[in-house]
Amino acid sequence: METRLFIGGEFVPARSGETLPVRNPHDGSELGHVAMAAGDDVEDAVAAARAALPAWRSTSASERGRLLLALADAIEARSDELARLESLDTGHPIRDTIGLDVPRTAATFRYFGGIADKVEGRVIPVDPGFLNYVVPEPVGIVGQIVPWNFPIMFTSWKLAPALAAGNCVLLKPSELTPLSSLRMAELMAEVGFPPGVVNVLPGDGKDAGSAIVDHPEIAKIAFTGSTAVGAEVAARSGARLKGVQLELGGKGANIVFEDADLRAAVNGAAFAIFHNQGQACIAGSRILLHESIAREFLDSFLELAGSIRVGDPLSSSTEMGPLTSAEHRDRVLRYTEIARQEGGEVLLGGSRPRDPALSAGYYVEPTVVRCAPDARVAQEEVFGPFASVLIFRDEAEAIALANATPYGLGSGLWTRDLRRAHRVAEQIRAGMVWVNCYKRVHPGSPFGGIGASGVGREMGFDAMREYTETRSVWINIDAALPAYYPR
Ligand code: NAD
Repeated sequence: METRLFIGGEFVPARSGETLPVRNPHDGSELGHVAMAAGDDVEDAVAAARAALPAWRSTSASERGRLLLALADAIEARSDELARLESLDTGHPIRDTIGLDVPRTAATFRYFGGIADKVEGRVIPVDPGFLNYVVPEPVGIVGQIVPWNFPIMFTSWKLAPALAAGNCVLLKPSELTPLSSLRMAELMAEVGFPPGVVNVLPGDGKDAGSAIVDHPEIAKIAFTGSTAVGAEVAARSGARLKGVQLELGGKGANIVFEDADLRAAVNGAAFAIFHNQGQACIAGSRILLHESIAREFLDSFLELAGSIRVGDPLSSSTEMGPLTSAEHRDRVLRYTEIARQEGGEVLLGGSRPRDPALSAGYYVEPTVVRCAPDARVAQEEVFGPFASVLIFRDEAEAIALANATPYGLGSGLWTRDLRRAHRVAEQIRAGMVWVNCYKRVHPGSPFGGIGASGVGREMGFDAMREYTETRSVWINIDAALPAYYPR
């Protein structure tokens, strides 16, 4: 596959000639090198986007939609290959990349292919004699920066609405996981996206990321990543008066009430934290248990978590793969130490797996820790297979605990009481609340957070609003204008 930068419809080396190593998280081996973009390459990509923008924004919305639909088909036709590539690059188990990541990627392009020509303007009832209509316009050249935890899926979440709305894009994948977005660039060229409409620039945050954020011709930055970097991106964008959309960290609460279907809650809570090795912004990383069912829940939960098959992502029986980088594995392992120092009780895991076949990889065992609400592991995003368990006495305490972090992304609750479900869902400070399920996403359903979890929404019509500005046009049909300067 191509490993060079994708600029102006062509694959080109980085101007500096520098490359980035790409590693396989299963054993730390080198998969290859990709070109590493920096400021000069960002300049070239902006020039390509600038040249492409006038024609792209005036291309009919249905033609833009047709290209997105063709891309969805191309992804589906190569789903096995893309799933394998994503598993090699990220460590996601192949059953997930085949069953979730790649189908969701295709579904996102398909949804926005369908939405492209259904975004309408409005006519505003203003004063008699005037016609005032408003139309959504593309914002122009957009910079999109994505993280390493769901690279192929997030590439689609970012590109699809921006392109449907008629923008040109510079997309920077994470330096850790650049492969699927480069392969996607090949597919976009193949299905006929015009040169310069999408430019893919693997590189690090310091050089390529900063150059995109600071570039005066890039009108908007859409960023998914950590809260700390998101805040910096927002501050720098703010200084240049450019819009931002930020998908940042989370510390999701998953509340299990005493009337919950415990079997479903145990399985749902395990999926919420261990799927993708816990490397999900919406992970249900805090499990809040009513004191009356805590013991029973934990007995089943620990048994299930202890039985999760950790291993080679390319094996179809693997349920949990390695973390994406060695550095991140070490960071996650340090949190077990922090939990112990703060008086937490490690109920399961906390180490690297003992299996010698996994010793060179970036693996961490499923880990469960019981801790106090103010412990660091109950407050900070660990971003690994690490569940923090808290106990509550009543509904009010559960809500207070759920809301007791700076984050507000996704949270869940398990109950058989419909009134309680609505009552609690209304009081959780989060962009998304799941009842008797967790981590449900759909291209039509708004996705995003509040507080330290970000600003703005991806997916659905909300995403189309992120990538458009409103133009208001006034036409004097037959109004007699009073002379402001009667002479
Ligand atoms: P990160 O913030 O380190 O990096 C994210 C991206 O930003 C990468 O492409 C990186 O190269 C780039 N970057 C880094 N510094 C930059 C700078 N100064 N200027 C411009 N770009 C810069 O995050 P990460 O470690 O890659 O991802 C994990 C984090 O992402 C977690 O906190 C997770 O919660 C968050 N996340 C949030 C969502 C969401 O939708 N809310 C989804 C996935 C991940």
